[in-house]
Amino acid sequence: MKREEVVNFSAGPSVLPTEVLEIAGKELLNYNGSGMSVMEMSHRGKAYLEIFESAKSKLRAALSIPESHALLFLQGGASLQFSMVPMNLMRELGKGRADYAVTGNFSEIACKEARRYGVISVAGSSEDRNHTYIPKQPELRLDPAADYFYYCANNTVYGTEWQYVPETGGVPLCCDMSSNILSKPVDVSQYGIIFAGAQKNMAPAGLTVVIIDKDLAGREMACTPLMMSYRTMIEKDSMYNTPPCWNIYILGLVLDWLEKQGGVSGMERIKREKAALLYGYLDGSALFRACAEPESRSDMNVTFRTGSEETDAAFCKNAAAAGFTNLKGHRKVGGMRASIYNAMPVESVRRLVEFMKAFEVKNRV
Ligand SMILES: *Cc1c(COP(=O)(O)O)cnc(C)c1O
Repeated sequence: MKREEVVNFSAGPSVLPTEVLEIAGKELLNYNGSGMSVMEMSHRGKAYLEIFESAKSKLRAALSIPESHALLFLQGGASLQFSMVPMNLMRELGKGRADYAVTGNFSEIACKEARRYGVISVAGSSEDRNHTYIPKQPELRLDPAADYFYYCANNTVYGTEWQYVPETGGVPLCCDMSSNILSKPVDVSQYGIIFAGAQKNMAPAGLTVVIIDKDLAGREMACTPLMMSYRTMIEKDSMYNTPPCWNIYILGLVLDWLEKQGGVSGMERIKREKAALLYGYLDGSALFRACAEPESRSDMNVTFRTGSEETDAAFCKNAAAAGFTNLKGHRKVGGMRASIYNAMPVESVRRLVEFMKAFEVKNRV
């Protein structure tokens, strides 16, 4: 298939703006007259340091990251943060305390991992209704003495998204924004730590962005590997070792593209339009229905089903044949999932809705 014939709804790694890939392609063998690919440069050389600094300042500008917070480019995926967060933020191995909101796959994994390091309290959970909703603020059971409160802003697998920032009364907020970072403005100053794997909304897999209040760094457990200490990485400006150079370069290109779309507020407008198209159709459909409860719906990962596993499978097969790929839901939940991240054009979502309408007509019960 040609690229133009495919609409890629992959949950991650996911679609990147074509314009970004075209620039990267043009510069692949010879970056800016250097005679080298970005992949072949010293990460400490002048040409690369310019790429690195510019990606950092563009991301700082896009998210209005205040001076109080450090911006780090790390590796190990979002998943390594599941260990780094407790190792760096808990006051003492085995005795530190933290609150976790378990609202889906990745917060559950993070919560389980954190239990290796301290005393974890589940401050909120959506397990009782199969993670189809986000608990409301008054439902959170908060420990005022917790070292931090942890939540996942957008649940990639179940298709739910926090529509509010939890109020914790001074306990540092730690948030996994892997699948909705850069999709709307955030007030970074409210957070102790924000982290995100790049492969949903930012760049290829292999880069993790961490934004951390500098006051929280430097209290890591004595056993924390140097590579996993925020203090090390802040002191070395993410270059304790070789950073994921190529991914950071792509992030810079994605941020140029994002700026042209009107930055994060532009992205927010566009994502609302895409989500409204899809949920609007689902809510009126006699065949499909959205899985997440209306006030908790994700604008990034839209989960839906027909109620029949055979029809779901037939839909995914027909859709793939028509170029709408990667619509199969996560193996944990089944059904369908359309991941409509920043780089997914509105027009592609419109085309999907047209395809679903036609499928519905043919499969009306
Ligand atoms: C994809 C994803 C992860 C896992 O990211 P890795 O980079 O594969 O470790 C964690 N959290 C969320 C919300 C995700 O969407």
